[in-house]
Amino acid sequence: AGDVFADDQNELIVASAEMLYGLIHARYILTTKGLAAMLEKFKNCDFGRCPRVSCSGQPCLPMGQSDIPRSSTVKIYCPKCEDLYYPRSKHQANTDGAYFGTTFPHIFMMTHSQLKPQKPAQQYVPRIFGFKVHKKT
Ligand SMILES: [Zn+2]
Repeated sequence: AGDVFADDQNELIVASAEMLYGLIHARYILTTKGLAAMLEKFKNCDFGRCPRVSCSGQPCLPMGQSDIPRSSTVKIYCPKCEDLYYPRSKHQANTDGAYFGTTFPHIFMMTHSQLKPQKPAQQYVPRIFGFKVHKKT
């Protein structure tokens, strides 16, 4: 608490500054410099791996389901199965999705197209004692 602002004002300023920083971050990661920084993190698997067995530990990228702040938390996008998952890290799970945005993983994969994995060949088929489970009609 400072002398200039009341506690509730301070909280509002901190929250606004955080949101502004987050939205600047969402823009930054789409720039050449930002994409290069994110490439290093992707190589280090900082954003986690796809939980799908058929993706064999494919590193994921962070993304938002909306570009509007406070809509939803950040998710991880798997470039192999092209699906979204909840991040495992608690810190990431509490981060606003808009701080990464809906566009980032796609621009990233277009920029670093050599990193684009092939889609997993097989789709898991449920079996009981080796026999395919028939759908109810
Ligand atoms: Zn996957």
